[in-house]
Amino acid sequence: MTELRRNPLPTSIDAVTGAQVAPKVGFVSLGCPKALVDSEQILTQLRAEGYQTAKSYDGADLVIVNTCGFIDAAVQESLDAIGEALAENGKVIVTGCLGAKKDASGEDIITKVHPKVLAVTGPHAVAEVMNSVHTHLPKPHDPFVDLVPDHGVKLTPKHYAYLKISEGCNHRCSFCIIPSMRGDLVSRPIHEVLTEAENLFKAGVKELLVISQDTSAYGVDVKFRTGFWNGRPVKTHMTQLVEALGVLARQYDAWVRLHYVYPYPHVDQAIPLMGDGHVLPYLDIPMQHAHPDVLKRMKRPASGEKNLDRILAWRKMNPDLTIRSTFIAGFPGETEAEFEYLLDFLREAQIDRLGCFAYSPVEGATANALANPVPEEVREERRARVMLLQEEISAKRLQAKVGKTIRVLVDEVNAREAIGRSAADAPEIDGVVHIKRSLVPGKAKLAVGQFADVVVTKADAHDLWATVA
Ligand code: SF4
Repeated sequence: MTELRRNPLPTSIDAVTGAQVAPKVGFVSLGCPKALVDSEQILTQLRAEGYQTAKSYDGADLVIVNTCGFIDAAVQESLDAIGEALAENGKVIVTGCLGAKKDASGEDIITKVHPKVLAVTGPHAVAEVMNSVHTHLPKPHDPFVDLVPDHGVKLTPKHYAYLKISEGCNHRCSFCIIPSMRGDLVSRPIHEVLTEAENLFKAGVKELLVISQDTSAYGVDVKFRTGFWNGRPVKTHMTQLVEALGVLARQYDAWVRLHYVYPYPHVDQAIPLMGDGHVLPYLDIPMQHAHPDVLKRMKRPASGEKNLDRILAWRKMNPDLTIRSTFIAGFPGETEAEFEYLLDFLREAQIDRLGCFAYSPVEGATANALANPVPEEVREERRARVMLLQEEISAKRLQAKVGKTIRVLVDEVNAREAIGRSAADAPEIDGVVHIKRSLVPGKAKLAVGQFADVVVTKADAHDLWATVA
C-alpha cells in the first residue's frame, strides 16, 4: 500500500534526516456515543504516548477500527470497515462491541470473516488496545518523558527476570493466609504477559522465571479466554502460555523456567514442550506432603492426583526433568506413620531439589485450630530427617551428572572461577555450578549472562564443579 510499508527503515526514522518521527495511527470510529467515548480515550492515550493520528489509510502505520455490533446493519458496516482498512492498509487492530460477539456456532465473528486482523478486543478496553498497538507499532522513545524502560524497573540482575502471570489464589490451604491478603486468582491478560516477556528478552534477559501463586491455574478466572498475540489467537491457559514463551525463548536464545506448578492433569502437556531446552525441563511443584490424609487436612489443591505416578511418567517422557518441591514436616495431627509415608514418597519420587519447613502456625490460618498439634521438637526432628534423606538423594542424583556436558548460564565471574546455573538450578533456591577458569590466556573467557557448555568434573550434595567443554 503506502510509502511507509515499502520503506525498509523503521517507521519512526525519517529517511532523509535520520531523525525520529512519531508513528501514525489511523482511526475509524463507528457506533453509539459510548463507543465514541472509548475512541476518545484511546486517541487521548495514543496522543499522550507520542503517536500521531493519520488522516488517510495511506499515511497510517496501523489502523484501529472501533466497531458496533448492535443490529445486523451495524455488524455489516463494521465488517465492511475492517475489510476496507485491511485492503487499504493491512495492519488493523479491532476493538468495540463486535469484538466481543460470537456467531451461532460460538466462533468470534470478526476473526472468522477477517482472520488477518492483528488483534481484537471488546468494548472499554483501552489498556488492551494500547498493548496491541505497542506490540505492532512500538511507541516513540522520548528521553524527556520515558524515564522507565519498556521492561520496567527490575531488581534482578540484567540476565534473568521474574514474570508474574497472575495475582491471588482460589485455594484455601489451611496453613496459608495469602488468599485473605491478595484475594482470589486474577490472571493477567495473555497478550500483556507475552508483551512483557518479549520486552524482557529484547532487553537482554536470558532466563525468565514464570511465577504466580498457582501457575497451573492460569486463566481459570477468565474461563481460559482467547486473547491475541502477534495477530494470532492464544488462550489464557498455562499450556498455550508455555508454548508461546517457548517460541519467544527460541527466538532470543533464552530459557523459561516454571515455578509454582500444581500437578493438575494438564501439566502433562507441558512436558513435551521442554524438549528443545528453551522451556527448561524443570518443574517447581510445591507438594507440602505426600500422605492423602495430611493433604486433606491441609486442603491442598491437586491432592487427589496420583503424584508419584505422574512424576515417574514425566521422567519417562523427559529423563532430564528436574523437580523441585517444598514440604512441611509436623503439620497438626501428623502421625509417625504419615511422616514415614512422606519419607517413602521422597525415596521413590527422587525429588531433585527440596526445601522442608517445620510447621509453624501463621496467625489467621485455619490449621491452627486442628486437633493434635505436633510438639515443636518433634516438628524440628522430622524436618531434620527429611533434609538428611534429601542430602542422600541429591548427592546421588548430582553424582550421576559427573562426566556429562551441560549448559550453564553464567551468574558471576571472579578471579578464581565463574559461577553458573544449569537447567536444574533456579537462582537463589537451588545449587550452582562452579566453573574452573582456563589457565590458557584468552581461552574460555566467560561473562555474566552468557551461556556456556561445561563438562561436570565433581559433585557434592548441592553443587557441581565443571570445566569449559
Ligand atoms: S498455599 Fe494454597 S492457598 Fe496459599 S497461595 Fe498456595 S495454593 Fe493458594
